[in-house]
Amino acid sequence: MTVISTNTPTPELQALDAAHHMHPFTHGAGLNAKGARVITRAEGCWLTDSDGNRILDGMAGLWCVNIGYGRTELADAAHRQMQELPFYNTFFMTTHVPAIRLAAKLADLAPGELNHVFFAGSGSEANDTNLRMVRTYWAEKGQPERQTVISRWNAYHGSSVGSGSLGGMKGMHAQGGMPIPGIAHIDQPDWWSEGGDMSPEEFGLSRARLLEDKILELGPETVAAFIAEPIQGAGGVIIPPDSYWPEIQRIVDKYGILLIADEVICGFGRTGSWFGSQTLGIRPDIMTIAKGLSSGYQPIGGSIVSDAVAEVIADTEFNHGYTYSGHPVACAVALENLRILEDEAILDRVRNDTGPYLREKFESLTDHPLVGEARIVGMMGSIALTPDAAARAPFASEAGTVGLICRERCFANNLVMRHVGDRMIISPPLVISHEEIDTLIARARLSLDETLSKLRAEGLMQAG
Ligand SMILES: *Cc1c(COP(=O)(O)O)cnc(C)c1O
Repeated sequence: MTVISTNTPTPELQALDAAHHMHPFTHGAGLNAKGARVITRAEGCWLTDSDGNRILDGMAGLWCVNIGYGRTELADAAHRQMQELPFYNTFFMTTHVPAIRLAAKLADLAPGELNHVFFAGSGSEANDTNLRMVRTYWAEKGQPERQTVISRWNAYHGSSVGSGSLGGMKGMHAQGGMPIPGIAHIDQPDWWSEGGDMSPEEFGLSRARLLEDKILELGPETVAAFIAEPIQGAGGVIIPPDSYWPEIQRIVDKYGILLIADEVICGFGRTGSWFGSQTLGIRPDIMTIAKGLSSGYQPIGGSIVSDAVAEVIADTEFNHGYTYSGHPVACAVALENLRILEDEAILDRVRNDTGPYLREKFESLTDHPLVGEARIVGMMGSIALTPDAAARAPFASEAGTVGLICRERCFANNLVMRHVGDRMIISPPLVISHEEIDTLIARARLSLDETLSKLRAEGLMQAG
């Protein structure tokens, strides 16, 4: 077999990729016919592909490269740790310094009584841990009938059988026998698409009260926990009305059910605080973490658990864990990532400088004829595309048709902006500069203009 390297011509790389590599969340045959874009290098907020194009990464990889690409400190941390102790398990009465240091650091950063960390290799694994942990908690408390976890439609909590069932992605549930039993879903707080004639505040309250309705329908004595992302990410960056989270907190408190905040995207500065729970003013019992924890440089996730829950779990043998729980190299890299976020005051910058700057530019896109709303918190934002902004109307074409056209225009203009249905979303590295923000917005506007021309040419500018 020939040696495959970054010097191999792009069509050959694409052909080999098509022949042997199965992509996540991808229509394989469709991709193979087109050929995947081959990313070869990255620096700061910029990707380079195998044809030498430089692409502005408006998604921070997959919501994760918070400190940007190319930080050699993280490579050095991995190198040092691999030489000192590349692996040891934490199952059998042993521990190691990177896991101790990272758990202590996370307990320090996390709000309130969240002082204990159960490590995993990813966000999906961490949510599987959470599902088992909350059920075990109630069983140990003498309430084993508290089994059901309530989640939301269009939530994303991962892609394993457990976490995918917790999520509310109907396309995922349609394949492979999901959701598993014991999980219930309520509707999401997406005012723009689903709010009808209600004000955002009324709608936020009404969607939060669906949780109370569901608890009463199931019987409060059967409900273990409610899980939600402070701001839904993969569902389209759905920023809830201000009335939503206080009402959710009131309801979980009233019925004494555990609150799991899935912070996999919102954590580590994305919303301008260490955790989205702080930005949105909620008090979770467990937080799911991954992605920005290591800025994606190493696969690592985990659950940050309250004193009250950890104490109960500590009273039993919790028959659960992953070979790579607390992997020393991943922990060392995460620690270095957190050091950089702190030492370079990156959260301050998001809160007080680049975040407000991006917000002003991003919200200015609402003057574009294709844009219904453009909302952003910290460094996660979403644009609703519409043929009629005043009516908050969807397109007549199948949902996602227009979003895909816009995403392809962005790709052609060397900007990574993702689409979810007919929403366009951004989640850039937290270190993005003013100049790069200007470039991002200019390319987004150009792509919106080109999308509009194409929609008009093809008669797709129709409300459904
Ligand atoms: C990405 C994501 C997950 C899953 O994390 P993986 O590391 O892909 O398993 C879980 N929850 C949320 C909110 C996510 O965005």
